Amino acid sequence: MQAPAAELALRFDNSFVRALPADPEPKNYRRQVLGACYSRVDPTPVSNPALLAWSGELAQRLGLPADPQTDPDLAARLAQVFAGVEQLPGMAPFAACYGGHQFGNWADQLGDGRAISLGEVLGEGGQRWELQLKGAGPTPYSRMGDGRAVLRSSVREFLCSEAMHHLGVPTTRALSLVTTGDAVVRDMFYDGHPRPEPGAIVCRVAPSFLRFGNFELFAARDDRATLARLADYAIETHFPALASAHAAGDPQRYARWFVEIAERTAEMIAHWMRVGFVHGVMNTDNMSILGLTIDYGPYGWIDDYDPDWTPNTTDASTRRYRFGNQPRIAAWNLLRMAAALRPLIGDEAPLQAGMDAYAAALDRHTLTSFAAKLGLAELRTDEDAEDPRSGLWLVDELLTQLATTSTDMTLFYRALADLPLAEDCDDESLLAPLLPAYYEDLRPRARAETLAWLRALTAKVRGEGHDPAQRRARMNAANPKYVLRNYLAQQAIERAEAGDQDMLHELQAVLRAPYDEQPGREHLAAKRPDWAKHRPGCSMLSCSS
Ligand code: AMP
Ligand code: MG
Repeated sequence: MQAPAAELALRFDNSFVRALPADPEPKNYRRQVLGACYSRVDPTPVSNPALLAWSGELAQRLGLPADPQTDPDLAARLAQVFAGVEQLPGMAPFAACYGGHQFGNWADQLGDGRAISLGEVLGEGGQRWELQLKGAGPTPYSRMGDGRAVLRSSVREFLCSEAMHHLGVPTTRALSLVTTGDAVVRDMFYDGHPRPEPGAIVCRVAPSFLRFGNFELFAARDDRATLARLADYAIETHFPALASAHAAGDPQRYARWFVEIAERTAEMIAHWMRVGFVHGVMNTDNMSILGLTIDYGPYGWIDDYDPDWTPNTTDASTRRYRFGNQPRIAAWNLLRMAAALRPLIGDEAPLQAGMDAYAAALDRHTLTSFAAKLGLAELRTDEDAEDPRSGLWLVDELLTQLATTSTDMTLFYRALADLPLAEDCDDESLLAPLLPAYYEDLRPRARAETLAWLRALTAKVRGEGHDPAQRRARMNAANPKYVLRNYLAQQAIERAEAGDQDMLHELQAVLRAPYDEQPGREHLAAKRPDWAKHRPGCSMLSCSS
């Protein structure tokens, strides 16, 4: 029996397809698409969709039911809709055309090869949300791919985008996770052993999925008219204050827009560095113009702190996308975006202003987040980083120590709020809260250096004389207790593949309040067990998804 249609009444307002040039070819086959921002394409039906997970709080903001899993008919209907089998009135599915730089090289046309947008919904407060199915079947941009996604990568995208949101990191969201009932063949290690895996579809949600690559493609093709139309659409729809300040065609409009993109990107990157997130594929087609974390593929979370770690096996040789390189790669990507906007601005100088704005915003956000993480009143760039009484020395020295000892990043920072602050505290008591964070015992020299750092930190904190309870609350709001540890995601995947969704749901629930102590849930905050150290899915991931 179908749930009443009224229950799924969404307010569609499809600005993207309305405002922008469409590919005139209605047939769905792989091709180069010129002079158009998108192609109309319907999802390819799947055999037996089932709703595995649902983001109730996001659903409510869109105008959808919060808790469909208590009503089997409704859950079945939502599975049909968010597998792309049933289209609701007002939907206008399309795949977007974009290009991108992959691993530093121009890759030309890429496009939504397995993502199909259903349309844009006006939700709570008139907020615009694009709904996009990932894995909904082939599109004109599928190139060699099948347009599908496997359960393991879909679980990872679903859990991580919601976890990031609740961590306060700008990100695309995930509404639903649906299994399709169809097998998808993947060669997970690219070693000539393809095997069938369960297929799945995530409905992801964001105000827009526009990427740097959407603009780069038209610039690369010298298609200034489409470039300008797309830029004006993006600004008018998603940066309304800029649109009213500067008319279409005014170079200032695009120059100021680039500054905004750069500043948002800086804020996103500072958050990644704060929580220990490594994106893994920071290609320009995976960079959102809204500064949202987008395209969850072979991402990973820092366990044992190592700025050189990359989760992506494809990136293992050059480590371009390693944790510590993310700020620099974002700047490199912004330069590609600047080059794409150059025809609209006509001059280098405003673009340099955007790059300067990126550097300044990154410094600002980084200092703010480190001050909160360490429980210091503030950090300033004009301090003397050589002086052990300065906050900058504390940060630099800490990052060196974390990189040279075997330390769980999340546990370490979280424990800082529990440090005894008394000046006469003995060494054992001072170090005690941190001990659970170490994967190996500290050697004598590292122990001495750590103690010296702790003494410097606690002395500075005492000198600042802040209210301990407030300081602690601020620290705990910057240092999460629960993150989507690589091995936990992998365990949830293996259980879901075996038909047991309990861990998936448990992680989803815990990660909704990542800064809270959640009694009884401590096992989901535990450091990486030894078995997970070199296990695929836990420490290394391929792009196969
Ligand atoms: P990604 O590395 O996931 O950002 O993907 C890069 C490009 O490959 C994008 O254009 C994707 O749409 C496309 N792509 C990835 N996987 C598939 C697939 N299974 N079928 C079709 N296109 C895909
Ligand atoms: Mg992508």
